[in-house]
Order: sequence, then C-alpha cells, then structure tokens
Amino acid sequence: MKLLMHTCCAPCSVYCIDSLRNEGIEPVLYWFNPNIHPYIEYKTRKDTLIEYSKMINAELIINENYGLKEFCRNVIDDLDNRCQNYCYKVRLEETVKYAKENGYTAFTSTLFVSPYQKHNILKNICMELSKKYDIEFLYRDFRIGFRQGQEKARELGLYMQKYCGCVFSEKEIFITHTNTKPNLPEGFEFLPVKRNIIINKEKNDKKQYINLLLEADPSEKIIEEYLKDGDLFVLRYKDDVACIAVVTKLDNDTVELKNIVTKEEFRGKGYAKKMIKYLADNYKQRYKKMLVGTTENNIPFYVKQGFDKYEKTIKNFFVDNYDKEIWDGELQCMDMYYYSKNLKKKENT
Ligand code: SF4
Repeated sequence: MKLLMHTCCAPCSVYCIDSLRNEGIEPVLYWFNPNIHPYIEYKTRKDTLIEYSKMINAELIINENYGLKEFCRNVIDDLDNRCQNYCYKVRLEETVKYAKENGYTAFTSTLFVSPYQKHNILKNICMELSKKYDIEFLYRDFRIGFRQGQEKARELGLYMQKYCGCVFSEKEIFITHTNTKPNLPEGFEFLPVKRNIIINKEKNDKKQYINLLLEADPSEKIIEEYLKDGDLFVLRYKDDVACIAVVTKLDNDTVELKNIVTKEEFRGKGYAKKMIKYLADNYKQRYKKMLVGTTENNIPFYVKQGFDKYEKTIKNFFVDNYDKEIWDGELQCMDMYYYSKNLKKKENT
C-alpha cells in the first residue's frame, strides 16, 4: 500500500505514524492546511512538522498554498458549519487529488486522532472522496491514542498549539471558553494522565547540569567534550530535575549513552529506568543500536535495561583518562565495559 496521510500538525501525527508503522505501513505525510491563522502560527506548525518528520525519518510533502483569503471567503457566510462545509473538505480533497495524481493507492488523515473533531462527518467526507476519485480510504480510529501521542509530543519538546486553527476557533478558545467535550469511540475513555513526570530534550545551556553530570563522570573535561554535540535529556518530577542523560551519535546506526545520573533524593524509584526506556523509544526511529560504557559494578543494571550484548572492554580506561583514582564502593574502577542495546528489538512490557 502506498499511503498518503493528510497531516494537520506534528503532535497529532505522532500516534498516527507510530500506530501505522506498527502495522507495517509507512505513510507519506501531506501538509495542506489553509485553515491555520495567523501566518506565524501556520509557519510554526509547519516548521514543527518539518523538524519532526526529519527526526523520525518520514517523507513529508508540503503544499505551500496558504490560502487565507479563499478560506475566509468560503466560511464567512456560515461560520457555525464552517468545519464540515468547507474546512475538512478542502483539505482532504486536495490530499486525495494529490494522491490520485501521484500514484498513491490509499489516503487517510491525522484528523482522525483528534477527539475534538467531528469524527463521523470526517469519515463520511473521506468515503465520498474515495468514491469520487476511486482511491482507497484507509480508515483508522486513531482517537484511542490521542493522549499517548500528545504526551510523547510534549516530551519531545514539539510545539503544541492551543487552538484548532482558524481565527474563529482561536476566538472560541480564548474568549468564550467553550468547554467542548472530547469525543471518543464507544467503550473508550481517557485514562488519567501522569503529569508529574515529564522528560524534555534540553536545548539551552546544557552546562547548567554539569554538577549533576559530574556525579556519574568525575571529569569536567571529558563531560564538556561529549556535551558539546550530545543531546541532553532532563526528567522532571513535579518541576524538580530528577534524572538527566546525555546521548551522542556515533554513526548512522549507533548512539551512545554517555552519562545518566539520578539526583540522590530520587534514587531507587526507577527514574533511570524510565529515562532509558524513553531514550530507546526516542532513538529507535532512526538508529539500530545504543551503546553504553560502564564500570563492572553497573553491568547488571544495564543488562536488565536491555543492554545485553557485550561489545568490548577498554583496559585501564579509568586509570588512563582520569587524574584521580575512581572508586565505586569497595571497588576501584579500572576497565570500561561496553554493552549494547538493540533498539529494533521488541521489548516485553
Ligand atoms: S475550527 Fe478547526 S476544523 Fe473548524 S474551521 Fe476552524 S480550523 Fe477548520
């Protein structure tokens, strides 16, 4: 199946792409959203999607037609029914036309993930378009994964919009505060979200965490070297930094977990484990393997987290590279042991 997926924004695409990929379907993303106003909001959402598609190695086609005037002309006479009368139709029809003209065999939309959209109306529009253009409509009720996708998007630091798109929806959110009830498929309900724990990639001033990083790696010089190009992730519990980790890219297939440390008061609560799971989920889209170098005492911990393949030993690493002797409890650290985790292997959860 060659699937073109109309994509309204990066956060909504997260669950749709993940679940389609789990089915073995690789969607090509299609951006056409003349309903997003003002322009700076349109550009921010579009740029976020471009960034996210690169991050996960997904193909993205951008239709650059902003189309503000045409959008307003077409909805102004019947604002109450603007979604179903124009907004859904224009975006989906443009997607279907592109799919038909460019050899795709099916289409769908990330709009099916949002419990705030009129799901059945969208579905009917897609079925009509499918008949009209003689192309398969791949229907999935992605709404069950809405919260999961949004949480992941937030953790990845993606821009999260606050309103649907048009100026009228912006006004409804910020002025009338309409409390639209989300609409889930029968038999499903939102589970309470654990909002206390959030993991983010730190983009600014990574050096502010140096003291904490030094607890796991006592050489400032070595830390600065890998921090320069490394990705630094921060796990916060109720706004407190609980655990941090640094990951660097080694080659096209491999990343290395260079440092992971949990603040003393948060130790023994599974935060490092959570962080490693998050990192594995994050990097598995683009990389095959995650490497970690560790002291002898910590090998069992990493093996339990899936770093179960022994790679190599660097003899006297801790003696040759550090000014002072390093002790881990009763044991002087001498050799560095490398283990790897296969990021493509399915985990038993
Ligand atoms: S509320 Fe959303 S779906 Fe409806 S017209 Fe505005 S942008 Fe389109």
